Amino acid sequence: LKDALKQNQQSTSNINLVEQWQQTNFPWSSNVEKVRTEIFKINSFRQWQLETINVTLSGHDCILIMPTGGGKSLCYQLPAVVSDGITIVVSPLISLVEDQVYALRNLNIDARALNTSTPRDEQTEILRILDGRNKTESTLKILYLTPEKIAKSKTIMAKLQKLYETKRFARLIVDEVHCVSQFGHDFRPDYKYLSIFKRQFPNVSILGLTATATTKVMNDVRQILKIPQSIIFRAPFNRKNLFYEVVHKSDVGKDALTELVNCIQHRFSKQSGIVYCLSQKDAEDVCCELQRNCIKAGCYHAGLSALSRTQVHEKWLKSQVHVICATIAFGMGIDKPDVRFVIHHSLSKSIENFYQESGRAGRDDQTSHCILFFRFGDVFRLAPMAFSDKSGNGLTNLYSMIAYCLNESACRRKLIAKYFDEVWQSHDCNQMCDVCSRPSTYITKRNCHQEASMIVDYLERNKKQRFTALKLVEQLTIKTMIKIDIQRLILQMITEQYLKEDFHFTSYATICYIVTGPRASYVYDNDCEVMLDMIESTKKRSSNPTKTQEKQIVKKTTSIVSTHPEPRPKLRWTTNIDSRTK
Ligand code: ADP
Ligand code: MG
Ligand code: ZN
Repeated sequence: LKDALKQNQQSTSNINLVEQWQQTNFPWSSNVEKVRTEIFKINSFRQWQLETINVTLSGHDCILIMPTGGGKSLCYQLPAVVSDGITIVVSPLISLVEDQVYALRNLNIDARALNTSTPRDEQTEILRILDGRNKTESTLKILYLTPEKIAKSKTIMAKLQKLYETKRFARLIVDEVHCVSQFGHDFRPDYKYLSIFKRQFPNVSILGLTATATTKVMNDVRQILKIPQSIIFRAPFNRKNLFYEVVHKSDVGKDALTELVNCIQHRFSKQSGIVYCLSQKDAEDVCCELQRNCIKAGCYHAGLSALSRTQVHEKWLKSQVHVICATIAFGMGIDKPDVRFVIHHSLSKSIENFYQESGRAGRDDQTSHCILFFRFGDVFRLAPMAFSDKSGNGLTNLYSMIAYCLNESACRRKLIAKYFDEVWQSHDCNQMCDVCSRPSTYITKRNCHQEASMIVDYLERNKKQRFTALKLVEQLTIKTMIKIDIQRLILQMITEQYLKEDFHFTSYATICYIVTGPRASYVYDNDCEVMLDMIESTKKRSSNPTKTQEKQIVKKTTSIVSTHPEPRPKLRWTTNIDSRTK
């Protein structure tokens, strides 16, 4: 709230501004409530949703900055339903737009999209609706356009002009509004064209939405869109009550499940949580194992019938089921406040996904845990999917996720913030991640270029053979490192392009081999650095940390979670030191 107040004070001197937008006595308020419950079937608004809706319905320009999955769409979809006329949404991602249109139509809201993949006759129909020449009144409420359409199609601009003149242009929504600015991480030239809207359609209010924007970018956006007085709402990016940690997971399937069971039994007994799994089968296996150990668990994935999914979800909401074992299909509309833990039984395909999925924990602001179980083998199950991801960024995204998992020395939050281009101060974590909460003396960075060159050398000497990642690790004999660190080194080398994956598609599966990468020859340079975070205990390869070290860690971590009802877990679950050395 303070942040928003500060922001808002810059544009207006009215200090009560935020409170003013939280009121529920606007002329449209009762209608907003009704549409929220009856059409969108949503129980309550999240932070800044009501404020944004009120601002935009009152005709002011507004920018909403909220993390992915926070619920930005509702902030324009609901106003679109309660307003006369048509809401125009500029959105760059056709696949996401298709999902939105589909979801809206399921709610009986007339939404359409006009882009390169819209069939001809539907294009014609949409243009006719914009024109207002249809004999029967159109029910169209929301029209999605791509920025290219607006920048390149004179027809569209002429039709929007017509829409404006006939007073049916409800408002303009600019999704991913940071794309307007060259200072952003995702500048798109076509977005620049949106700068003419305010001049062309002065009475149409603009609502910009984004998940990531620095102050610099926001100022630039305001200037380009010519909305200097726009009200900015910024949801906190940093979820202060979430404790982030990465735990090493056993290579043996059965042991990995036992680790998970132990973790839930010791730390989250009878508490609500989600375990995200890589595949439908994984979700079912995990669910069975939890049930076998008397943990009330249910399964949720797209392969189950709609009925059984709803049933599991409802039981979970009522806490009759404690743990949902799910694929990422479990995501839409989850709003349980007391989710105490989100466990990723395997890594996510990107940091963005991870942030969004783990962000379902602790909506009630109570301390909650986001634990990622990491192991080498999982990477190569995900890699083929990442490789064939339509966005073309699949592998890059996966590598950022791997870097997050290999990291032992930088604050987890800092890595997430960096990924999202957020400003970060180190004290912002408040020891709420595994890295920040343990003594820094545990970690050393080690230059592993010697071992790296041995790996490259081995691959080059055995060019005729093909190595999957697992096979490569088995065949390598590197005496200066334990297996787990060899695995970590290989991953590090992939993210730094000393090695790369080579995908082979068969009719049954995609096989992923490891070959030398574009930077392989650099490992032979004398000044080459392949830095790997080493935990003290693995470096010495002694079994366990000393008693005094152990005490230090436990002391430090217990102080963090003193508000937590459960006693702080044993060392093995606070860091990955213990499990790794076993
Ligand atoms: P964003 O665009 O910010 O990434 P979305 O608008 O796609 O996020 O919303 C993410 C999910 O949150 C959707 O499944 C949506 O139905 C759900 N959602 C939005 N607002 C609420 C709310 N107030 N209560 C419960 N679920 C909500
Ligand atoms: Mg969105
Ligand atoms: Zn931290």
